[in-house]
Amino acid sequence: MKRNVTEILHHLGEENMPFGSVTPPIFQTSIFQFDSFDKFKEALSNEEENYLYTRGNNPTVNIVEEKIAALEHGQRAKLFASGIAAISSGIMAFLKSNDHVVCVEDSYSWTKTLLEKYLKRFGISHTYVDGSDIEEVYSAVRPNTKVIYLESPTTFTFKIQDLENISAFAKKYGIKTIIDNTWATPYFQNPLDFGIDLVVHSSSKYFGGHSDVVAGVIVGSKKDISHIFNTEFLNIGAVPDPFASWLILRGLRTLHIRMERHFQSTMKVIDYLYHHPAVEKINYPFYKDNPQLALAKKQMRGGSGLFSIKLATKRVEDVKTFTDNLRIFKRAVSWGGYESLVVPYAVSHKNLSEDNISIVRIHVGLEDPEILIDDLERSLKRMMKK
Ligand SMILES: *Cc1c(COP(=O)(O)O)cnc(C)c1O
Repeated sequence: MKRNVTEILHHLGEENMPFGSVTPPIFQTSIFQFDSFDKFKEALSNEEENYLYTRGNNPTVNIVEEKIAALEHGQRAKLFASGIAAISSGIMAFLKSNDHVVCVEDSYSWTKTLLEKYLKRFGISHTYVDGSDIEEVYSAVRPNTKVIYLESPTTFTFKIQDLENISAFAKKYGIKTIIDNTWATPYFQNPLDFGIDLVVHSSSKYFGGHSDVVAGVIVGSKKDISHIFNTEFLNIGAVPDPFASWLILRGLRTLHIRMERHFQSTMKVIDYLYHHPAVEKINYPFYKDNPQLALAKKQMRGGSGLFSIKLATKRVEDVKTFTDNLRIFKRAVSWGGYESLVVPYAVSHKNLSEDNISIVRIHVGLEDPEILIDDLERSLKRMMKK
């Protein structure tokens, strides 16, 4: 059943709170008790459906899971201690030794480390694809391919993949499709509606929304989430903390308002940068010159606050001058909070070339866009004077 977004964010799963409490309590308990032998035995034999031990289920955590499952139009969700824990568990749950994974090449760096370093130890191989061309994705598939891993859009180059066609192809061959939907959030994009099997998120970004919590989540069918719960989730134990889950619950209250604001402000900042002589290129799915704009509009109702620019220089000194003169934008990793941030590619990556050395990733937060534009204007001017 598809519900109204604010009904999900503000009411779903909170019908019977103790003492008439308006906000749900933080169930800060590790264990749950039983009033009989039989009930105790039943809980131990089916941890998935019972409160037994917080490494499995916890009521505060479950409220957040119910909301995120509904937002993503999925049957069920499982929260994890971090985004990468949800991603690693989701991928590993559907693989055995000697299987093969097709993965988008610009996906999150630790997702790639999982394939390159960790799964390699178990004989699991992978092929990277650019992802913008579906024929390339199809031709990367082998008889032992079990997972196609997508991230749409990616979060440095902002390329998108054709979800409907890739998932239809994967279904024909019994391949699981998993997508990282952290950038768009379910407020703007619902990959399950296009036939994708599983959606993963870093809840440390827009779900939390205040840069004060690390968590992750995976959403899909009852059957797939049940499989993940009983394999990777319980055994690897990347358990979400009740307080961290409660912070996500609080962040979710304003998700709809924050996402609209991030989108509007980002479009204003991009409009300004578009005409600036020091900016050579802008990477954002909803940017008017984006060659993938039609696909972006088909798959997403709007965009978030993260994009990248290529400065019109080949000198790292210029990138430094631009970065160091910013006053409102903070120099920090991550994104999705209330605040504006920058990450120069030359800080976060090692494979530097003339093509990428002047790329800067920008997160537009919830400040007035006018002060953000002033900040960029001043720093770009300094850079051009040098
Ligand atoms: C941050 C991020 C992750 C990892 O999430 P953590 O919560 O930091 O573990 C995964 N995917 C994307 C796109 C991210 O930005």
